[in-house]
Amino acid sequence: MENQKVETFKCVVVGGGIAGVTCIEQLASQFPSADLALITAGPHIKAVINYKQVSRTLEEFDVEERPCTVLEEKYPNLTFIKSAVKTLDAKSHRLETADGKLYGYEKLCICSGARPKLFIEDNPYVLGIRDTDSAQNFQKRLSKAKRIIVIGNGGIALELVNEVEGCDLIWAIKDKAIGNTFFDAGAAQFLIPSVEAHKAQKPVPRKRPHYTVEEAAGGTSHTFTAGKNHCQTSTPTDHGSALGPDWHEGIVLQGAERGHRKVLVEYECEVERIFTPSDLVSSPEKNLNLETVGSWPVYIKLNNGKTYGCDFIVSATGVEPNTHPFLHGNNFALADDGGLQVDDQMRTSESDVYAAGDVCTACWKHSPLWQQMRLWTQARQMGWYAGRCMAAHVLSEPIELDFCFELFSHITKFFNYKVVLLGKFNAQGLGPNHELLVRCTKGQEYVKVVLSGGRMVGAVLIGETDLEETFENLILNQMDLTPYGEDLLNPNIDIEDYFD
Ligand code: FAD
Repeated sequence: MENQKVETFKCVVVGGGIAGVTCIEQLASQFPSADLALITAGPHIKAVINYKQVSRTLEEFDVEERPCTVLEEKYPNLTFIKSAVKTLDAKSHRLETADGKLYGYEKLCICSGARPKLFIEDNPYVLGIRDTDSAQNFQKRLSKAKRIIVIGNGGIALELVNEVEGCDLIWAIKDKAIGNTFFDAGAAQFLIPSVEAHKAQKPVPRKRPHYTVEEAAGGTSHTFTAGKNHCQTSTPTDHGSALGPDWHEGIVLQGAERGHRKVLVEYECEVERIFTPSDLVSSPEKNLNLETVGSWPVYIKLNNGKTYGCDFIVSATGVEPNTHPFLHGNNFALADDGGLQVDDQMRTSESDVYAAGDVCTACWKHSPLWQQMRLWTQARQMGWYAGRCMAAHVLSEPIELDFCFELFSHITKFFNYKVVLLGKFNAQGLGPNHELLVRCTKGQEYVKVVLSGGRMVGAVLIGETDLEETFENLILNQMDLTPYGEDLLNPNIDIEDYFD
């Protein structure tokens, strides 16, 4: 390593996902003639296109997976290096890639994303979904499956349950209600009928980030019963970028029994054991309360005492930051969730090393209306802001925390409903010190407002409510809403005019 040639750049960004690409583009626009490099493990990069600021904090954009060459064509001072980073020596400001090459940097930004946190590792019957390859593997296995089990209750699980057809689906969640990462029990109740009805509905217009591939290369239970077609290809890689919203749009999520679909939700339970028929021979299980007879490749025993057989299991139980190659020999401060701690200028604890996106944990004192969630929008915002911070530090200029970190805001779509989340939408961290106002029209809209001390601090808007901009303003200006009481959600009052 000592005598080896080291190619040195002013700034190096690791990761071709949304965070890394946004960061390097920001740097390239600020330093049009400095030597810059983007190192990423996969052959593609994720590019944000059609970016639109919907309101002060809400944003919409499309995402395209593109060949890496597009960036080099756009920015002549940018070198694209397709290889995985193997090690980092933060003291000597050097990286080594899997192909044995050494790269030096003045400033480095780590945007290596995260990977699925499987509830059990190295089990051939347990899949995680993260990138194009894992989604294709899932699709292939699903096409032969009559029953799958989904473990987890976040966005990926919600989307899977919504999209998978042609098989039985058992959805095991540890909470009392579906989708608790995003919703309270009331919103979950509003969405539950859609689990059955969604395919009959007309798709609503898209109002959230959209994903395309440019280049084809013991608890209670609840039962529902109900009866696209371009393929994406990509060279297999161990370190692909995270898929994002609409990741399933280019993939047929069809099981082996076309026209059939049955969803069973098992609430308040966790996985106790996974076993195959041959495991049972060597270690017989007593009191096996088999919910479903038949012969299956794998069985799962839940801690509510129920056991189900299935073709395979999807673990959608969150992600863990991809920090591994960067840690050895360095002194990174890690957050409890395993992310690289970053301060309000996206700096890690190692000098000249920044981080953005899923790999980092925002450890500055947050605005009372913002929280980190590992989402596409935040990956873009962090990448963009990290690029600006790096440039400001190179130029010894001051920089202030960007306004986008003032208020949490997210637009998405679940079960074909537009969903807008603002601020402390689930009263996160407020304890009993809050009040909720709810308006719900079955099958049409669910509006929840979180008030604290008479001021609006969060909102959940499901359906075409058109309230997002007004509520965003009310949250940002922290107006005392006590005089308006429940009129805030009175459907006969045009709230927009009211606060104009
Ligand atoms: P990534 O996109 O994961 O990019 C990481 C990059 O780093 C990749 O290019 C990878 O190749 C590279 N890399 C990794 N390790 C190395 C290494 N050692 N050396 C070099 N390069 C490396 N978010 C939403 O907002 N809404 C949604 O509906 C939504 N749905 C999702 C559905 C799925 C199935 C998944 C998996 C995620 C979803 N997300 C969603 C989350 C969103 O996709 C991520 O938050 C976002 O993509 C993170 O961007 P990133 O740039 O930080 O990381």
